Amino acid sequence: MTAQIISGAELAKEIRGQLAKEVEVLKQKGIEPGLAVILVGDDPASHSYVKGKQKACAEVGIRSTLLTFPATITEQFLLEKIQELNADPSVHGILVQLPLPSHINELKVIETISPEKDVDGFHPINVGRMMVGQKAFLPCTPYGILVMVKSIGVDIAGKHVVVVGRSNIVGKPVGQLFLREHATVTYCHSKTNNLAAITRQADILIVAVGKARLIGADYVKPGAVVIDVGVNRLENGKLCGDVNFDEVKEVASYITPVPKGVGPMTITMLLHNTIEAAKELMHR
Ligand code: NDP
Repeated sequence: MTAQIISGAELAKEIRGQLAKEVEVLKQKGIEPGLAVILVGDDPASHSYVKGKQKACAEVGIRSTLLTFPATITEQFLLEKIQELNADPSVHGILVQLPLPSHINELKVIETISPEKDVDGFHPINVGRMMVGQKAFLPCTPYGILVMVKSIGVDIAGKHVVVVGRSNIVGKPVGQLFLREHATVTYCHSKTNNLAAITRQADILIVAVGKARLIGADYVKPGAVVIDVGVNRLENGKLCGDVNFDEVKEVASYITPVPKGVGPMTITMLLHNTIEAAKELMHR
């Protein structure tokens, strides 16, 4: 039986419709949610991601401001810009598009963003709050994945979730989010021995590696839910995931496509977090 496709694009559209209504309500109360996006350098992929985020902001009524700087700026200059945005009451969320040029320390940059405006959920304070179950901005990609899995009505408690990849922005936090939902979580990475033997145990398999079609049908248990986070550009210019979609869809029960899978959900959760940040301001 062929797997059902979890369309991130469709789910994102539905959620964005609700978010647009929330923005309307906030605007009636005199609050216009505002996101500041910082883009350093001229990496084409980063420019395209930022464009997508700004378009999505406009769609739901969030005011987004783009600050672009050349790759030659100093770390100190960038930190000062972030401090200015921290102090600006019209800015509710701050996003620094990664990666940054190698002479700028990314962690230092992230730590400079006020945790109350860290709508990417990367600040160690938000990561820590998430780990101990406090209210926090959840990182957008992991949060989007959780919403996608919940959308198909799977009971996550007790399921074996295998995460391939342990980056700070996807792999590690997505495992934590599913642990919070009472899943049994296993992490795999580049040093994992016999990857397929572990991924084949997954009821829910989440792959965030960045290697085109790494995961074939023999890595997947029949009936598993497969979430493909990877975005890889092929020689023909097309995008593909870390999962061999054509093969795995014949084994899995549910699968996310690339593109139009996790990507649109990541942006949607950024919008959600920005609106939450604006709401918080009302309570301060
Ligand atoms: P990183 O490069 O930071 O991390 C990749 C992870 O994969 C590492 O933990 C690495 O292990 C592991 N890995 C590498 N090779 C293998 C292998 N052969 N077997 C098992 N594990 C392996 O990537 P990100 O987490 O930032 O991103 C992963 C992918 O997701 C990329 O394609 C990226 O473009 C995409 N992405 C998509 C988003 C979306 O919204 N759709 C958002 C963010 C990312 P080790 O730690 O040992 O090096």
